[in-house]
Amino acid sequence: SERWSKATSIFKEFEEQCATPIGRLRQVADAMTAEMHAGLASEGDSKLKMLNSYVDNLPTGDEHGLFYALDLGGTNFRVLRVQLGGRDGRVAKQECTEVSIPPELMTATSSELFDFIAKELERFIATEGEGFFLPPGGQRELGFTFSFPVKQLSISSGTLIRWTKGFSIDDAVDKDVVVELTKSLDRQGIDMRVAALVNDTIGTLAGGKYLNNDVAAAVILGTGTNAAYVERAHAIPKSGEMVINTEWGNFRSSHLPVTEYDQALDQDSLNVGEQIFEKIISGMYLGDIVRRVLCKMAEEAGFFGDIVPPKLKTRFILRTPEMCAMHHDTSPDLAVVGSKLEDIFGISDTSFEIRRVIVELCNIVATRAARLSAAGILGILKKMGKNTVKEGEKQRTVVAVDGGLFEHYTKFRSCLKSTLNELLGDEVAHTVVIEHANDGSGIGAALLAASHSQYP
Ligand code: ADP
Ligand code: MG
Repeated sequence: SERWSKATSIFKEFEEQCATPIGRLRQVADAMTAEMHAGLASEGDSKLKMLNSYVDNLPTGDEHGLFYALDLGGTNFRVLRVQLGGRDGRVAKQECTEVSIPPELMTATSSELFDFIAKELERFIATEGEGFFLPPGGQRELGFTFSFPVKQLSISSGTLIRWTKGFSIDDAVDKDVVVELTKSLDRQGIDMRVAALVNDTIGTLAGGKYLNNDVAAAVILGTGTNAAYVERAHAIPKSGEMVINTEWGNFRSSHLPVTEYDQALDQDSLNVGEQIFEKIISGMYLGDIVRRVLCKMAEEAGFFGDIVPPKLKTRFILRTPEMCAMHHDTSPDLAVVGSKLEDIFGISDTSFEIRRVIVELCNIVATRAARLSAAGILGILKKMGKNTVKEGEKQRTVVAVDGGLFEHYTKFRSCLKSTLNELLGDEVAHTVVIEHANDGSGIGAALLAASHSQYP
């Protein structure tokens, strides 16, 4: 029918615009490497901030004592405590709780957000029981994972550059987030010292390195996306190394396949013109890209019949986990897709052909994201000089990856891995390992709090 062919042409055009042939991925990787160099060379006029983390010594394994960690990401925050037992004891005991952030707090005031966090932390501290040992008279210490761009002033202080991922709390910008958290801890009567302020990429790198000494970079693919790596830094006295938080979510390049839907998503966002890479590849946005294409197919080609299902116009109504469930639907009649369309958009009685198109749309969006993520990782490997094998050298580079998108979206994960192998070629691919660092950022922050403890 005429409708179907119009819908197909909208679909096909989107598919073509999302194409990520290997040559284009190499251009993206090269642009990423170039932006990394630019970001290190100058402050301000590069897309990549390349933030100094003030972490020049990653965990050694000798860390010991009781430490808390707070992980404020995008969707949830986690509170964690670990009893570290030194070289032999390792992580003797670990407990964790996860709280979802009430959406209204994401655009409230700084003190409302941090007071909420402090209250949850207090509740968690109250449950500290057997197996955790605070030395008599000792003060509890905390590693704070704060996954937004921060200009670090020291290991335990830093000012918020700007919000991302749907957060927008104006009065927190340019403030020291440790000072803000500490004020809330004081108001709550919690006696705790913030010993380390880290980004989730830095925490994941530290937690990964603790378990596997070959970890040299960390990538987050969750609500948002970001990456960190170990940079050789001649100016750093002891280790000659410095961990850099790239803030690659803000990467952009003419080589990125950006469609009209991506542009519209950006225009409608809280941070217009920023975080373009993140808006194409991360969990907060993928479902909404699919929705936007479907909406256009409904409006301009009557894809779902004469009327446009009103819920198709609601931003973020299709979340990435739901998109993932549709994409992985293996039932013969695509029953999962059918029921998701009904539950989310109120669209009932969809044909098999319609469902198949939707699965394919999910595939296009997830594949583009996964392949571009792989290109970003190649960019980092290039910056570290790990994209080639040196003659006669035994080489192994582990990239620790964490985040709900990578963890749960199986097709995304396998596409990322196969694309990276394709980009590296067999010989180098054997030396690079993508490792899932499960909640490494919490442990990592606790480890960094331990290595910056006030107690020797
Ligand atoms: P954060 O990035 O907020 O620290 P996580 O790493 O836990 O948190 O990632 C949560 C994000 O991961 C969600 O916002 C969602 O986009 C994505 N996600 C979670 N579950 C799934 C899933 N089953 N399939 C695809 N994406 C998922
Ligand atoms: Mg996180």
